[in-house]
Amino acid sequence: MAAFGDGADVTVVAGGTILMPELTYGRLQPARALLLTRTGLDTMRRENGTVHLGATLPVAALEDAPEPLASAARHVADPEVRAQGTVGGNLCAAHAAEAPRGDLQAPLIALGARIRSTGSGGERTQPVEEFLAAAPTGRLVLGIEFEEPQAGAWAALDRPHAHDYTALAVSACRGADGSDHLAASGAAPRGIRLAAAEAAYAETGDAGRAGRDAVRDAKFADDALASTWYREQMLPVLVGRALSQLEEAA
Ligand SMILES: Cc1cc2nc3c(=O)[nH]c(=O)nc-3n(C[C@H](O)[C@H](O)[C@H](O)COP(=O)(O)OP(=O)(O)OC[C@H]3O[C@@H](n4cnc5c(N)ncnc54)[C@H](O)[C@@H]3O)c2cc1C
Repeated sequence: MAAFGDGADVTVVAGGTILMPELTYGRLQPARALLLTRTGLDTMRRENGTVHLGATLPVAALEDAPEPLASAARHVADPEVRAQGTVGGNLCAAHAAEAPRGDLQAPLIALGARIRSTGSGGERTQPVEEFLAAAPTGRLVLGIEFEEPQAGAWAALDRPHAHDYTALAVSACRGADGSDHLAASGAAPRGIRLAAAEAAYAETGDAGRAGRDAVRDAKFADDALASTWYREQMLPVLVGRALSQLEEAA
């Protein structure tokens, strides 16, 4: 990806579902734009128990991916947006007030995904949480990989319309090694691991206790989608639902 170099002054355009309106209305005026449409990164491959996703794989193609990624992908917007938007664009979507638009971040955290990217210092592969914590600017995502889980589950607040963003969702995953992982969308500006809930569930097997502890990991927003109070009440409920679905699926 020589055209990207160290990423200075380069705006990466994948599906463009977030960027095109910004460009159209002149709110974004890139010095240089790198279009990823014909890079051949739109593949999904399963090999020796590992799932490899190319950065430009359309969100629609994730409907065949392991849970909880498949369910989260099925609930992104509508069929047109899912056909155009990519997994890399979703991962790198910057948080916007009233529009928490990185719904795939939490399932990727629960799956223990690793992100392969290039930029200053060359190519590197790092855990998705580390990648997100660095607020991923200046890196070009090439691919995402994770081990096939034993089972996965996803629970979310209902949305009145396909174009409403997800106010809160919980991803649960039983990894290949049998350990359970929990993450949430809508509980912080980006997807987060529910570490306290994971520890409580591993220690006690009590989904109610895990749900109560989940609140400790959150930094809830108070926005037009839902109030902080409502999110705080609903996170334990969604953790309980996701864990009960996980036990059924395992
Ligand atoms: C009507 C509507 C409804 C929507 N609903 C949802 C929803 O319910 N849930 C949700 O999560 N999102 C939603 N979105 C937002 C968006 O469609 C998705 O997040 C989509 O997956 C973004 O992918 P993209 O390829 O279109 O991103 P782009 O617009 O191409 O890029 C988004 C950002 O990611 C960066 N980027 C893209 N690819 C890479 C890469 N490979 N490496 C580094 N940086 C990269 C871009 O530079 C940009 O900053 C909605 C959008 C619309 C228009």
